[in-house]
Amino acid sequence: MAHVQLKSVPSTQILLVVDDRQENLVAMQALLEEGDWQLRCVDSGESALQCMLEEDVGLVLLDVQMPHMDGFEVARLMRGNPRTRYTPIIFVSAIAQTQDSVIKGYATGAVDFMLKPFDSSVLRHKIHALLEHERNRSELLQLTQQLDTARAFNASVLDNAAEGIMVVGEDGRINFANPAMARMLEGSISDLEGSEMLSYLVSPQVTSDWRLSEFYLQWRRGEAYRLHDANLRTLNGGQVPVALSCSPLPRLQHAMVVMALDMSVVRHLHQQLESQAITDALTGLLNRRGFYQALESALSRIERSGQRMAVLYLDLDGFKRINDSLGHDVGDRLLKLVGEQLKASLRPYDSLARIGGDEFTALLDSLEHPEDAARIAEKLIEQVSVRHNLDGIEVTLGASVGIACFPECGQTVEGLLRAADMAMYEAKRTGRQQYRFFSQEMNGRARSRLMLEESLRNAIENDDFVLVYQPQIYLESGRLRGFEALLRWQHRVAGTVAPGVFIPLLEETRLINRLGGWIFKAGIEKCQQLSQQFGNELVLSLNVSPVQFGMPQLVDDLRRVLEEHQLNPRQLEVEVTESALMQDLETSQEQLRQLRKLGVRIAIDDFGTGYSSLAYLRHFELDTLKIDRLFISNMLDSPRDAAVVSTIIDLGRNLGLEVIAEGVETMAQRDWLAAHNCAIMQGFLVAPGLNAEHIKTFPAQLDWHNLPLRNEKPAG
Ligand code: C2E
Ligand code: CA
Ligand code: CA
Repeated sequence: MAHVQLKSVPSTQILLVVDDRQENLVAMQALLEEGDWQLRCVDSGESALQCMLEEDVGLVLLDVQMPHMDGFEVARLMRGNPRTRYTPIIFVSAIAQTQDSVIKGYATGAVDFMLKPFDSSVLRHKIHALLEHERNRSELLQLTQQLDTARAFNASVLDNAAEGIMVVGEDGRINFANPAMARMLEGSISDLEGSEMLSYLVSPQVTSDWRLSEFYLQWRRGEAYRLHDANLRTLNGGQVPVALSCSPLPRLQHAMVVMALDMSVVRHLHQQLESQAITDALTGLLNRRGFYQALESALSRIERSGQRMAVLYLDLDGFKRINDSLGHDVGDRLLKLVGEQLKASLRPYDSLARIGGDEFTALLDSLEHPEDAARIAEKLIEQVSVRHNLDGIEVTLGASVGIACFPECGQTVEGLLRAADMAMYEAKRTGRQQYRFFSQEMNGRARSRLMLEESLRNAIENDDFVLVYQPQIYLESGRLRGFEALLRWQHRVAGTVAPGVFIPLLEETRLINRLGGWIFKAGIEKCQQLSQQFGNELVLSLNVSPVQFGMPQLVDDLRRVLEEHQLNPRQLEVEVTESALMQDLETSQEQLRQLRKLGVRIAIDDFGTGYSSLAYLRHFELDTLKIDRLFISNMLDSPRDAAVVSTIIDLGRNLGLEVIAEGVETMAQRDWLAAHNCAIMQGFLVAPGLNAEHIKTFPAQLDWHNLPLRNEKPAG
């Protein structure tokens, strides 16, 4: 409205008197001189029309009888012209009019008739009232015109605005949308009007309940609400990034006006700038800044997850020589090539950066062991340290790598980078072409672990493993129940290695899967042999590690070997630890069900050391509980451990499970267990794991007072 100038109605209106007779005009003039109007007197219809064209006449006193053009004709012409169509006319006539002519007068637009002679005060009143009426009419007319103009103006502003504008009612529905809004959402205005505003909002994610949304809440508070980073869904299924501003309209309107600014171009530019700021133009890898960012966000993530990661700092050996002698162009191409090679040797979620001339850094996320970083470093060095061919020019490079592990070598971006950098210098100093950990201890650990891993691989190839068999005895009768197969590594130099040392490594490297098949085969074969010696009731227990237990083909593998050796599945017992079962309850339940279906027995190993022993017993179908030897070794001194042991024994009896006490070393322990109704035991008291020779002479029935191997040294 501010842009539209109000044209005000002149305060004094013009009163036009038309009469062909001079004396009448003079008389009228005398009569009407005084008044809040301006008087114009003309003596013909033509002059009257002329006057009305020139000025805004408020009221015409029109003589009916005039030569040339009578009053009716004047009135008719006036009504034909929009300018004078509504100008009120009072006809003035000297002669008495017939009814007909009066009607004719009104028909041509008169608003009144005055017959001469007339009462001047009545005339003045009439004039006054008519002028007043005319003034109101023309004011109203002007207002209407102005309103139309203002409305057209507003509409054109809304129609032509480049920003999307919507009016959203307090119920969250769009009451109005301008064309730009419709264009932005790729629909028509009528598609938008009546629909829910929130249904277009993809992000930020907000509650779908309008009354709980920030839009509504801020509106209730009478406050403007801005969202700089929103995304809207278009009706064609696309998305537009927008900035939204929502302002409450005056209370009575129960609505808000929402402006949406299309940010596609801005955001795209922003992203471009941002990615330029963090990438290295030459290699397309991250630059120093990008690497800092990646490391920073990894650190904030990892602090919560408790995982490990490592920063590798790689410096090319011999690059400067090539760059100086063959030129920067070759140098650049070489760097690009190295970048590609390094990238190819990393996992997709590792970050790689070139943070200086010939210095690269890598962030290795979610590592299980620091040794994994060493393995990757080795791979990177190997990748780089080959002969590179650059359009016919042969060059050789090398690389030195420093490794810093989180959290051991640093917990901040700077700390980790500095540690990795220092380790890299150490690698260079001690002869290049190698990797170094920041900490000495880790260097040693990594080396021995990698060596152990290597020799484990060899041991598997060379069949350096054997199984020994530890007898399980019924406490009451002294009868042999069966044997537990225990793995031994016959190391060429170190001698017999206990499984505690290498089983965890076999598990981590998944080598256990290769060895597992062999253990099943050797164990089951042995069991079949032993059945001939001890009878078909004999049970063989096989340990199944968590990794093995998690393998879907476990049951199939066992079935095949059982069938091959025609062994009754009830003669085979599978020992699983609590922790293996707890990895994934559902899968475990299924695996146990399958094992049960196969017909093998199931024992829980090291029972009592897990954390939810009682809770899960209900869920699993089992045959045997093996009490962990820790409880057995302490039970005679510790009432608590004694309580645990007797509770497990009772529990087993109540659930109909066999209970085996492990690690029984003394007669006192045996007697205590017998007194507490434990059914079965195994342990050094009777025998350690026995080799084939020893088993041959092992009795099917023990005499507790004359134990066969009492005084022999344990073999395991
Ligand atoms: P485990 O299943 O609890 O095996 C029992 C361990 O207790 C064996 O150690 C055994 O030699 C030892 N032991 C038996 N009687 C006594 C005793 O009276 N006193 C003491 N102090 N120890 C006794 P080993 O052979 O060193 O095995 C250690 C662990 O390695 C086993 O614990 C088992 O979890 C795992 N393991 C052994 N063989 C295999 C195998 O073939 N496959 C898998 N996956 N794991 C195996
Ligand atoms: Ca066991
Ligand atoms: Ca055990």
